[in-house]
Amino acid sequence: MDDLSRFCCLNSECPEHGKRGAGNLTVTSRYGPDRQRRMLRCRTCKVRFSERKGTPLFDSRLPAERVGSVLEHIAEGCGVRQTGRLCGVNRGTVGRLSRIAGEHARDLHDELVGLSPPHTRGPVR
Ligand SMILES: [Zn+2]
Repeated sequence: MDDLSRFCCLNSECPEHGKRGAGNLTVTSRYGPDRQRRMLRCRTCKVRFSERKGTPLFDSRLPAERVGSVLEHIAEGCGVRQTGRLCGVNRGTVGRLSRIAGEHARDLHDELVGLSPPHTRGPVR
């Protein structure tokens, strides 16, 4: 079984938007290398989206392991410069990832596994 409790609908028009574990999502298909990435569909609004959408992993050319490594170092309290050096990633990229990840992250695990979209327009109710 797929555990979708950390995912939420990314359609801002949808009543279930941003609610994790609302039971409204299903896996419709898989894609990518080894078919590891899932396409999710919201039963409420019928919108489909990639499980990577809205996360620091989406739209990033870095391999997921590299992103995870960068975020781990930041979570451990390494500075941007140090993290970049340890992970072999340039400082601009580290800064971007930490900014995206830090703003709405409850913890690192949420960021790596959960797919709550960044909330840029104030609190979601
Ligand atoms: Zn929806």
